[in-house]
Amino acid sequence: MKMKLHAFIFAAALTQFSLAAAPGVVDTASSPFAQIRSVGLDEVRWTDGFWADRFELCRTQMVPKMESLMEGTNYSQFFRNFEIAAGRAGGKSRGSTFNDGDFYKFLEGASATLAATNDVALRKKLDELIAVIAQAQETNGYLDTWVQLHQRSGDTNAAPFQNPENFEMYNFGQLMTAAGVHHRVTGETNFLAVARKAADYLCETFRNPTPALANNLICPSHYMGIVELYRATGEPRYLELAKKFLAMRDLVKEGGDDNQDRLPLDQQTEAEGHAVRANYLFAGAADLFLETGDTNLWKPLAEIWTNVVTKKMYLTGGCGALYDGASPDGAKDQKHITRVHQAYGRNFQLPNTTAYNETCANIGNVLWNWRMFLATGNAKFMDVVELALYNSVLSGGALDGTNYFYTNPLRVTDPMPLALRWSRTRVPFVSSFCCPPNLVRTIAESADYAYGKSADAVWVNLYGGSSLATKLSNGETVKLAQATDYPWNGRVRIKILECGGTGFALKLRIPGWANGASVRVNDAPADFSPGAQSYFEIRRVWQPGDFVDLDLPMPARLMEANPLVEEDLNQVAVQRGPVVYCLESPDLPPGVKISDVMIPADLKLVARFDRRLLDGIVILEGKALAQPEVSWTGKLYRDFQPAELKPVNVKFIPYSVWQNRGPSEMSVWLPVRRTN
Ligand SMILES: [Zn+2]
Repeated sequence: MKMKLHAFIFAAALTQFSLAAAPGVVDTASSPFAQIRSVGLDEVRWTDGFWADRFELCRTQMVPKMESLMEGTNYSQFFRNFEIAAGRAGGKSRGSTFNDGDFYKFLEGASATLAATNDVALRKKLDELIAVIAQAQETNGYLDTWVQLHQRSGDTNAAPFQNPENFEMYNFGQLMTAAGVHHRVTGETNFLAVARKAADYLCETFRNPTPALANNLICPSHYMGIVELYRATGEPRYLELAKKFLAMRDLVKEGGDDNQDRLPLDQQTEAEGHAVRANYLFAGAADLFLETGDTNLWKPLAEIWTNVVTKKMYLTGGCGALYDGASPDGAKDQKHITRVHQAYGRNFQLPNTTAYNETCANIGNVLWNWRMFLATGNAKFMDVVELALYNSVLSGGALDGTNYFYTNPLRVTDPMPLALRWSRTRVPFVSSFCCPPNLVRTIAESADYAYGKSADAVWVNLYGGSSLATKLSNGETVKLAQATDYPWNGRVRIKILECGGTGFALKLRIPGWANGASVRVNDAPADFSPGAQSYFEIRRVWQPGDFVDLDLPMPARLMEANPLVEEDLNQVAVQRGPVVYCLESPDLPPGVKISDVMIPADLKLVARFDRRLLDGIVILEGKALAQPEVSWTGKLYRDFQPAELKPVNVKFIPYSVWQNRGPSEMSVWLPVRRTN
């Protein structure tokens, strides 16, 4: 494999930094129960390589294309609904009840890109959009265009917080999160003022919560949003509101797993129900823990996390096995069973073809684990953040910056065993347009996850060409640059560009998969070897020009699943570093279908960087086996027919970039031929 370690080009980029830092996406600068402080959005940026490329795609393609889709009315109405509510345009409400929230997510993503570019035209454009949003807001602070416009057109059923399916709390929550990011990046308060007015409306409306009001807590982005608004403003009433909202869940009568309200949160031990709603709830509860240290929040979060990671999460970090189901399925007490959709399944129920894995649920997994990491500094949470980002999050978007998946299955065949609700190919628009702007904001904010800090330490969480300029609370000023071709190889160099004389620790994340990692400081081997799934600490008084080399061995590995996962029984998958691979039909010889391929247990895979394929990826090539294709048309069973297996060349590609070459067959898991 020939790949250069990218040259250092950082000094010029770093001169643009100011140390008057805007806090990170999640601002734990003053959170009393955070072990890790997030770094400012303007303190870090991708400079080169994998993530810099993704960020550029986001900034130059995804953001402008989404802006025109959401400002336009070809597919649905997003901005137009605000214009009508503001009295600036005629017409009626159109689109989903959660379109407002998805528009805010886009604004958040667009705002986040300003941290790296300070694009004056975009900044001005956002101000114009925000002015219309502010004008659409009622004088009492209420803001939900679907309800407002239906009310105005005489719909007697439309009124604030009357119908949970109106997703008002989701819309309010995304508003607060987006306004917080916009404020941090730009320093402006125009959007934040809208969010404050909305939050004050909620404080008033939910002063005396009732069970009917409590029903409105579905798809709960509002816990994260309100806690972040508290952090941005320092207003204690917002923290109290977040506490009240979480406690209010217990008022729900006849709840069910779809909204995680069958049981009080502190009695929950397993992830159940709608996976986006679940992960947003867990992320919000973790946010509240960061401020309160309430062990009644941490205990269920820790137990549910273990349940997800050991029994319910896909190899790709994806969450939500089921399109539709019943939960708790198979429970002894049948009367507690309710319908669920887009949901976590039973333990070890991880179907591949019908895997739901909504992009938003996988992003929710990142949001949740990031907050769990901030609370603990435990590397196991960052492992999940990284796994989901590289695989089931990035898979949500096409390399053209235009098309998106709603669901992220691990296997697609032709024909499919059944017709499914959502497309097997990425598309520019789906009626439920939650995932595309969610992916935009996640990529736009991804650099902020790369680093963290504590009093006298810089935590390196994600590897990618990047630069960081920050100040530690011990007074140490740190400017550093990271150069690497990660995730295509595991060699990373971190160079100290500027520092004070106090000294600090550099803490390098050693991923759980990284056996045999090694560290050198200024070309001298470190005193001991780093252990997997930990942070390796190098503490010293640094000098400008000091450098640290980390080597994470990255062999291609065959993975197998716990045999309780029926759908993966006697199958293997390929993973290299954090990247999960798949076999896709364009890479198979003619006449060989995905279901014909069998993997020998001693499969040898050679890694090779192919710069022309799929925008430049490391492919894994080897020799597998294929059985002759047979027709199963009209048959469910037949007598077993041993077939002569023939060698076949296979080429695995990263799962996240499958289906960028037209409709195809694909599988992550493939049958293994075990040998003695
Ligand atoms: Zn979604």
